[in-house]
Amino acid sequence: MGLLIRNGEIVTASERYRADIWCESETITRIGSGLSAPPGAEVIDATGKYVFPGFIDPHVHIYLPCMGTFAKDTHETASKAALVGGTTTWIEMLGPDRSEEPMAGFELWLGKAQGHSACDFTFHMTVSRYDDAAEKQLIEIVRRGVSSFKVYLAYKGAFGLTDEDLYKTLRLARKLGVITTAHCENADLITALQTKLVAEGKAGPEWHYESRPPLVEAEGVHHLLTFAQVNDAHVYVVHLSCVEALREAVAARYRGVKVWTETLIQYLLLDKTCAERPEFEGAKYIMSPPLRDRANQEVLWNALRDGLIDTLATDHAPFDFASQKRMGEKDFTKIPSGIPSLEDRVNAFYTYGVKRGRLDLHRFVEAASTQAAKLFGLFPRKGTIQPGSDADLVVYDPAYRGTLSMRTQMMNVDYNPFEGLAIEGRPHVVTVRGQVAARDGKFVGKIGRGRFLEREPNHF
Ligand code: MN
Ligand code: MN
Repeated sequence: MGLLIRNGEIVTASERYRADIWCESETITRIGSGLSAPPGAEVIDATGKYVFPGFIDPHVHIYLPCMGTFAKDTHETASKAALVGGTTTWIEMLGPDRSEEPMAGFELWLGKAQGHSACDFTFHMTVSRYDDAAEKQLIEIVRRGVSSFKVYLAYKGAFGLTDEDLYKTLRLARKLGVITTAHCENADLITALQTKLVAEGKAGPEWHYESRPPLVEAEGVHHLLTFAQVNDAHVYVVHLSCVEALREAVAARYRGVKVWTETLIQYLLLDKTCAERPEFEGAKYIMSPPLRDRANQEVLWNALRDGLIDTLATDHAPFDFASQKRMGEKDFTKIPSGIPSLEDRVNAFYTYGVKRGRLDLHRFVEAASTQAAKLFGLFPRKGTIQPGSDADLVVYDPAYRGTLSMRTQMMNVDYNPFEGLAIEGRPHVVTVRGQVAARDGKFVGKIGRGRFLEREPNHF
């Protein structure tokens, strides 16, 4: 038994060298040259290939009720897609709304994932209401291994917190040593702009952008960071999309606010003109915050390179174009929000980041894996390659050439937002805790083997 990965070029956030990796049961136990495998061990030849730590997507939605329907992926289909694309761990938004009890939500989401996922997983716990009962349950949920919160400044009435509750949530987070992730857009401004646009007959998907302009996001970021500063709390801005919002985050960081930021592969490669496509096709590209003007992309890339933006995620939330997106045919506010991308994040980031010279291999690994592991209490179990770490490895073939397409994807949705996009590299072999789970675009793992990763608070 055991797994030997031979002759690969190991690349972590800080190192690059050629060596063999020996994995026993679920763990990396030796790294060196000329390692030999005992009889019965599985040997993978990684000559000419990189070996990366398993990639981590810190922001996905899998079980996602939305406007009377559900996002299309199950934990089974999503974990297949993740693994084929090199993502071995994800952090799912655990999202009870304000009418539901936090603990009931925790049990529901955990039950949906456990026994149904092939990759490892954990959650950000949504705080949509704050009272004594909720507080007690949140403390218990943190004790059970979920050491990050999620708050929404948008979506008032469903998930959005009042300022009073936002203050109390961040105060509790500070006390427990928990980081709070946040969707930053001003809810009332969005509602006002949506109402105005629809009343003017501006109801097509191209108007979604106008209802949530960059200023609305920048205000949300500033708002969150003011509350974070007052509480001395650790916060993480999810899906940062534009220069205006980035400016607020950077300014706060330099005045001492403990803030980290995430952007998405969609914002780096797609822009607002996608949502303006005719025949309602723009609906495929509706997400919030919206895709932005192309001029933002170079800034986001550079900020990612320099670490002003910390992580790259997907906010994966797939809805079928033929049926679900059509719910908003007469009114863009009823289009389910989300652009599927869980499967394609790593390959697109490698191709358009590393191969195009926008960032180096180390920063690529850091932004797509290591940094999320460190921020969310998974490091060094995940996010790096060293003895003692979980044997989550991506043997990556930089010679592969292909295109992204709905026809070949594992994601359970009827379109691919990057249809036809060329990629230059993809995982040859992907392992989860010492077992091969994907090989050359095919899933070969075990559904249900994915483990709930319990995380300690106070790991900063
Ligand atoms: Mn969001
Ligand atoms: Mn999200």
